[in-house]
Amino acid sequence: MYDVAIIGAGSGGYSAAIRAGQLGMKVACIEGSPHLGGTCLNIGCMPSKALLHASELYEDARLEFANLGIDVQPKLNLEQMMAQKADSVSKLIKGVEFLFRKNHVEWIKGWASFAAPGQLDIRHLDGTTGRLEARHVVIATGSVPVDIPGVCVDHKTIVTSTEALSFSEVPRRLAIIGAGVIGLELGSVWRRLGSEVIVLEYQDRVLPEVDSEIATTFGKLIARQGVQLRLGVRVSGAVTTANGATVEFGPRDGSAVEQLECDKVLVAVGRRPFTNGLKLETIGLKTGPRGFIQNDAYRTGIPNVWVIGDVTNGPMLAHRAEDDAIACIESIAGMVDGTDHQIIPNVVYTKPEIATIGATEDHLKATGVAYRAGRFQFMANSRARINHETAGLVKVLTDEKTDRILGVHMVGPSVSEFIAEAAVAMAMGATSEDVAYTAHPHPTRSEAFRQASMDVTGWAMQA
Ligand code: FAD
Repeated sequence: MYDVAIIGAGSGGYSAAIRAGQLGMKVACIEGSPHLGGTCLNIGCMPSKALLHASELYEDARLEFANLGIDVQPKLNLEQMMAQKADSVSKLIKGVEFLFRKNHVEWIKGWASFAAPGQLDIRHLDGTTGRLEARHVVIATGSVPVDIPGVCVDHKTIVTSTEALSFSEVPRRLAIIGAGVIGLELGSVWRRLGSEVIVLEYQDRVLPEVDSEIATTFGKLIARQGVQLRLGVRVSGAVTTANGATVEFGPRDGSAVEQLECDKVLVAVGRRPFTNGLKLETIGLKTGPRGFIQNDAYRTGIPNVWVIGDVTNGPMLAHRAEDDAIACIESIAGMVDGTDHQIIPNVVYTKPEIATIGATEDHLKATGVAYRAGRFQFMANSRARINHETAGLVKVLTDEKTDRILGVHMVGPSVSEFIAEAAVAMAMGATSEDVAYTAHPHPTRSEAFRQASMDVTGWAMQA
């Protein structure tokens, strides 16, 4: 009998397993794919960041280095770019395997389904079957890409993000359906490597969930880089052809149809919770709207059955799955949940990067919250200027009465690295004045956050 069995070894599942091991629980983690690490390590965050980094350097070498006095003639070696990505990913996976061994987590290789609330049937990857018992079960089965009607994904020409992380050739023309984070990150990669990239988006703007000022600023920047944005359009179908694929689309509210011929189509319209094969009905667990398993402090409503990560409501992010994991396991251990689950930063790793946290200005306006806004342009940040990375801004939103920070939204160089500063500030209930009166090292891009905080009360001073 295990104290806890965890279904899925993605960011949520492996973090839960390791934390349970650290707390001295007898723990099993069941994973149906051959590797630990789930989406993030194998086909998500990490391979995409490896390609974003390499393709950014390639483009810098082509377009920026000469300006810095470095003359080079870079040549793309896509095979090596993919190989170094695979090598980094495999080292990260080995790191999780090491942590499993160190914390006495039993890795069970197979697919799990419920036989009863504390009983799981396992279909092992070697073809055998078995059953295990656990006092607590944590569901951490993650998510998979959403399909759209009329678009027949064949995983070769019409693909999901998984295949777009491993193209063996640079597509001449790549159509991307969806201007969300995955579409824009992978669109950036392939454009830098030489593809003509056309992004088709239903909404009138890119990144529909991001603060509209930041998203609009970014939309202009990425269009200037050469990504073609077709906003406010509806894709009605996509089929493979002898030479690639044809995508049919037209105005969102109209009927005229355009046809776009391309070599590859990336469908990036979001992800949905994955519960296939779990036999949730066996334990009487019903999924909620859009297939998510509902949770109340990670409890599913079925005694001792818990849920974390992408498969339950909330932002589909690896760090959120990790936070869920720690809070869930500590709750099972009877500890107090110390995490603030409202404060979750979100990053888009394009160039420039986008990093946001808390309420958007659109939300504050729509809900009638009285707020103040401070802004600071990277054009006036000395480090950004010296590095020729001046596009973008930082915006700090605070409560008009208390000055407490309600949201921070940034588009600019390396902003992923200091959004956590805003997260800590918000978790501590900081005001813009607290940030404004805190020394920031000079010259850094993080000074733009301090200056935007100063600007809330009108005394930003760098120029
Ligand atoms: P997953 O990582 O999806 O893991 C679930 C695991 O459960 C899988 O390994 C699956 O095989 C296993 N499983 C499912 N059912 C069963 C079963 N019945 N039995 C046994 N095993 C089962 N997030 C970020 O925070 N930052 C990023 O930069 C980022 N980039 C991304 C880029 C891409 C291209 C994609 C697709 C996603 C990205 N994400 C990013 C999102 C991130 O990957 C997910 O939020 C995260 O992986 C969720 O973790 P999870 O543990 O909930 O689920």
